[in-house]
This record gives sequence, C-alpha cells and structure tokens, in this order.
Amino acid sequence: MSSITGWAASAAGQPLERATFDVGELGVEEVEVAVDYCGICHSDLSMINNEWGNARYPFIPGHEVVGRVVALGAQAKGLSIGQRVGIGWTADSCMHCHQCLSGDHHLCAESVATIGGHHGGFADKLRAHWAWTIPLPEGIDLASAGPLLCGGITVLKPFLAYDIKPTARVGVIGIGGLGHMAVKFAAAWGCEVTAFTSTAAKADEARGFGAHHVVASRDAEAIAAIAGSLDLLLVTVNVPMDWNALLNTLAPKGRMHVVGAVLEPIPVPAFSLIGRQRDISGSPTGSPVDIARMLDFAARHDIRPQVEMFPMSQVNQALHHLADGKARYRIVLQNTPA
Ligand SMILES: [Zn+2]
Ligand SMILES: [Zn+2]
Repeated sequence: MSSITGWAASAAGQPLERATFDVGELGVEEVEVAVDYCGICHSDLSMINNEWGNARYPFIPGHEVVGRVVALGAQAKGLSIGQRVGIGWTADSCMHCHQCLSGDHHLCAESVATIGGHHGGFADKLRAHWAWTIPLPEGIDLASAGPLLCGGITVLKPFLAYDIKPTARVGVIGIGGLGHMAVKFAAAWGCEVTAFTSTAAKADEARGFGAHHVVASRDAEAIAAIAGSLDLLLVTVNVPMDWNALLNTLAPKGRMHVVGAVLEPIPVPAFSLIGRQRDISGSPTGSPVDIARMLDFAARHDIRPQVEMFPMSQVNQALHHLADGKARYRIVLQNTPA
C-alpha cells in the first residue's frame, strides 16, 4: 500500500488543504513520479470551482508535472527509475479503442484526466499510465517546462493536425497563459505572427515573444484593416469576442481554431464560411507522440513559457494570483527537494 500527500480541494471553491490519500498498490501499467515542478493551468482553477460541472471531490489539482520516475509497474514500458518525465492533461487512456490504436489517444472516450477522479500534481507524487508519462528531452529547462505539457501541446497541436506551413500567416487571440506560448511556437515554426490583445501594455511583450504585428482585439477598425489576411487564427481567450469581425480576418481557406474554453456559444454566420471556404475547428491537447514532438521542438528552439515560481506550500496564494488575472504568464509550483 502506498500514499500520496498533496494539496486537495474538498468541495467547490474551497481553499486547498494538505491531505494524504491512500492510493493502494501501483497498477501494473502505472508509473509513480516524484513531482519536482507543477504548472498551474486555468483548468485547475475551473475544476476547483466546478465551473464545468464535472469535478469530483476531494481531488488534488495539477496537470503540468515535471518530475522523476520513482516506481514502475511490472508492465510499464520504456521508462527507467530516476528518468526525467512530464505528465500533462491525460493520465491514462484505454489503449485498445480505434482512437488509441490510431495514435489519437487524446481523443479516447475512456481517457482519464490527470485531475478528473484522479490525484494530480500539486503533491509529492502522482501516478500515470506509462504511455502518458513522457520522457523529457535533453536541454529542456525543467523549471519552466511544466506549462508546455498542457498549454504548450494545446497551442501546437493545430500546427501538427492541419500541417500549417512556415509560410502561413498566423493570428493569436489573447496574450495570456496559452497565447504567449502560441506566439512563441508560431514564430519558431517560421510563421508571420499577429498577436491580438485587449491589453495595450502587453503589445511590447507580445513582440518580445516573437509577434511581428500586434492588433488591439477590441479595435474594430484595426481588425477590419487586416481582413482576408490570416491562414490560421488561434483563439486562446475564454471570453466572447466580435467573432464575425475576427472570422473575416481569415484568408480564403483560412481556419479559426478554438483552444480557449469560451463558455458562451460562438455565433457563425454561414456566409462568413461559405464564400471563402473557411473552416472553424477546435482541439484538446495531443497524443503522447504529439507531446514528445512538441517537447523536442521546444528544446531545439529553446521555447520557454514565461513563468512565475511559487513554492508548493503557497499554492493558495498562487491560485489567487492566477484568479486575479495577475499571472505573467504561467505559474509553476516548486517542491522543495526532500
Ligand atoms: Zn491545462
Ligand atoms: Zn482508447
């Protein structure tokens, strides 16, 4: 028998409290990972507050884990004790459905979210299936790598899924936790990048992340001025926008791709799509292979999320910092070495 000690939410909206949970024997295909760093994603906050109605309590949030393998189940493959690994949004999937067997494990109907009925990474240790325990490449910066494992793959996945070319013009709506990583990835991919932000103070920072142009996302005239120019428009915000004006920034065959959890429906006038053969799509994170490719690309191009560090013991202060919209741009919790 074995236990995990972490920072748990006992009910919706409650501050996290340190608690220990008996987690039983390690499953044969499971890996136990000692947590060194864990990023805080906006989804952790949404789940703590049960904004999506599917949280199960008590649970330990945290799904951007950087750590070391400390125990391996008898059937856990491809990993060794002490190896540096990362775990993102998904901790397990069935491995036998068509999606899993096609390499689209992130679309598995039986997948287990790292923080969905499963204890996450604001803890000393966590467990995941070996296939979802991703080896970290040499050269990756461990302290800032956590946010790549959820946010990073979320913004890079459309480039992989839709074969976005380096000659593409890419717009990123929202320069926050996701959006600042999207700008860095799109610039490293070779694209011409336009950042859309409602915060004038972020314009210079967006250019620092690699944006070639910055457009005020509430300025109808500025948006109209770039109509018909973008091949990919990545939506990373979770608030309503002037969607039709933004759709009209797309070039013929352009795509608006949604990765921000906008809760209000997005109205889509049919003629905005039809006349120029535009697409609208969305995606969650990515498969284990997508995540490994993303990490290799990030290591090669030295793409580091811009992070603020908090000790794990100050997790509640860190969550307030995020909830207040003050995070620039991601927060990482650090465990004190034992
Ligand atoms: Zn996340
Ligand atoms: Zn499956």
